[in-house]
Amino acid sequence: MRAQDKVDVIFDAVVRRNPGESEFHQAVREVLESVVPVLHRHPEYADAKIIDRICEPERQIIFRVPWEDDRGEVHINRGFRVEFNSALGPYKGGLRFHPSVYLGIVKFLGFEQVFKNALTGMPIGGGKGGSDFDPKGRSDREVMRFCQSFITELYRHIGEYTDVPAGDIGVGGREIGYMFGQYKRITNRYESGVLTGKGLSYGGAQVRREATGYGLVFFAEEMLRAVGAGLDGKKVVVSGSGNVAIYAIEKVHQLGGTVVACSDSSGYVVDDTGIDVALLRDLKEVRRFRIGDYVTERPHARFVAGRSVWEVPCQVALPCATQNEIGAAEAASLIGGGCIVVVEGANMPTTPEAVRAFAEAKVRFVPGKAANAGGVAASALEMQQNASRDSWTFEHSEQRLREIMRDIHDRCFATAEEYGMPGNYVAGANIEGFRNVAEAMLAHGLI
Ligand code: GLU
Repeated sequence: MRAQDKVDVIFDAVVRRNPGESEFHQAVREVLESVVPVLHRHPEYADAKIIDRICEPERQIIFRVPWEDDRGEVHINRGFRVEFNSALGPYKGGLRFHPSVYLGIVKFLGFEQVFKNALTGMPIGGGKGGSDFDPKGRSDREVMRFCQSFITELYRHIGEYTDVPAGDIGVGGREIGYMFGQYKRITNRYESGVLTGKGLSYGGAQVRREATGYGLVFFAEEMLRAVGAGLDGKKVVVSGSGNVAIYAIEKVHQLGGTVVACSDSSGYVVDDTGIDVALLRDLKEVRRFRIGDYVTERPHARFVAGRSVWEVPCQVALPCATQNEIGAAEAASLIGGGCIVVVEGANMPTTPEAVRAFAEAKVRFVPGKAANAGGVAASALEMQQNASRDSWTFEHSEQRLREIMRDIHDRCFATAEEYGMPGNYVAGANIEGFRNVAEAMLAHGLI
């Protein structure tokens, strides 16, 4: 059978075995399309059914999470952890708390995480988890009770050598703190390396909080350098206003670019003088307000309700909100507005149609599994510091992050060239990540 036919058969099986999980199908399709040329060169991967095995998670855990709100009413949510692949190290990946979470989203994120983590060059496998719990509007005590209940079930499945969760949408330092506290209490073990994204006072690492956003911008800088340009003087639009967006904006400004717009699910703000990061952080991290409140304090800025931030013209687009936020229409506005590079800060924010449109318009595009790998890479550095009971300075940690992002960029770039697709970061990232995992799986035998 031809490699392309083999891949088609595998994809059909994935769709049959995971009905209705469209995000997972989309993520699998994209990787499978990229690895066809690898199968031509490495028939041993096909013989050992490496791709078939990579598409099937090693373990999937679904559990009930009961908790009580401040009025004493009982709520039931569903918790998930998909332990996707442990060829390179313990399962590693975030937890997402958002009402949209269901098994298909967790599987798509876990699948992407396998290749992303492989690209970092660190010893980490891939996994993902979360819950359909909606933290929006919940009090601090309610969030704490939810986290405690969640970990009271999940604790038996995780551990520093087994599975190491971290944050994602809806899970930040506060939630990790509550989960770590409950894990410590249940197990009677101060097992620092069981979770990453911890606070600095109890085993957290410098730069972990900033790492996804900073790493994204370091990657953007490398790819601009590859075409003889830089971030200096560039007009940038960022979607989202959460952890990834905030620190991406901060780093763009430090490197001489200007972020003129950012968003949340209610709409977007435009500030031609550059988004004020200190104000944004205060609104989103401390006061937990909506983005529209930005203009109350910065009256020269404007708020546009209910529309897509991608209608704001820019040269560099950093989608940092959520999956599938850039479709064909948004891609057309970006191309029309003079965009030259799109670098994904979120996981799979761009639809396949939009990716094709960028390729046709010669807009360079980098998938999240390469560009946002700084977050999980910094998590691996946190695990390293926890294991050696050490803690590094901010400067040293940022330097390490920068080197890792440069290395990911260079390997994706070189792999795309090696396979005759220069400048194709999608192919470069998928092939490079896949090869690393496939080689380890082959070495481990049929397991
Ligand atoms: N949630 C982040 C991601 O999508 C970080 C995961 C981690 O640090 O384990 O990569």
